[in-house]
Amino acid sequence: MSSVNVTGDSALPPAAGYRGRFAPSPTGPLHPGSMLAAFGSWLLARHAGGQWLVRIEDVDGPREVAGAAAAQLATLAAFGLHPDEPVHYQSRRHALYRAAVGQLLQQGKAFHCHCSRADLAGQQGIHRHCVARPPRPQPAIRLRVADGSEVAFDDGLQGRFAQAVDRDVGDFVLLRADGCWAYQLAVVVDDAGQGISDVVRGADLLDSTPRQILLQRALGLPTPRYLHLPLLLDAQGGKLSKSLAAQPVDAADPLPTLRWLWRALGQPAAALEGTVTLPELLERAVAAFQPQRLRRESIKADGTPFP
Ligand code: GLU
Repeated sequence: MSSVNVTGDSALPPAAGYRGRFAPSPTGPLHPGSMLAAFGSWLLARHAGGQWLVRIEDVDGPREVAGAAAAQLATLAAFGLHPDEPVHYQSRRHALYRAAVGQLLQQGKAFHCHCSRADLAGQQGIHRHCVARPPRPQPAIRLRVADGSEVAFDDGLQGRFAQAVDRDVGDFVLLRADGCWAYQLAVVVDDAGQGISDVVRGADLLDSTPRQILLQRALGLPTPRYLHLPLLLDAQGGKLSKSLAAQPVDAADPLPTLRWLWRALGQPAAALEGTVTLPELLERAVAAFQPQRLRRESIKADGTPFP
């Protein structure tokens, strides 16, 4: 990994030993796309002989759906994907996020900001300096992203990815003006706190990763390895909305979905042939899994079989 990092904070290597995780936000039931990340991260952790954890990312109150976290956990259990440690809830970890932001404020790496989205409209929503006139009752807190903060990393599946965080993203939010911790902050604090060595998740988060690496460096935390799995798209190549694959997965009948996900992960169907029970299928999957066969391209989840 190489990067230009004018803050002078250095990158630390990932934790020793494989520790992966699945970190759903409780905004609804698990769909095939989220199950692809769950099953993919589980397979990679099991293949490496490592641990696999589950974290409920419930810090975004306005987006949370009541009962969704419990339903997601029940679905994972029905699919036989059991975490190795008790489930971790971000809503119980405010003190850690507060401490991390406090440290950044104290070191001058973060600042209070009164700018609203409308204030920043003239600069495509990218914050480089404050433009707000009337102060807001509760300001946001942003990370100060120095000029020239380009971050590059080698993704385990997508290859090299680089982003000029200063120009493309700007000073990003750590604590929102509505009082919620930003995803970028909570995920970084928790991946480090849980000793995660390998983050495996959907490619929709590829362009969040440079922000997370910048934040790790600012906080003096290690940078895990990253692997971003392909996204499921509808038949037209758009984001899944009303198509079949946008329906929640059927927790009462996990085997067909697991077979489908297995193929979506580029693995040969034949490896799971003849398995009739869930434990048998999962055991066979772990034994037969070949990470080098993972697909990089987005997958059209239009019901047609895989080639
Ligand atoms: N909670 C995020 C989501 O459900 C995923 C976070 C992550 O895997 O880093 O989209």
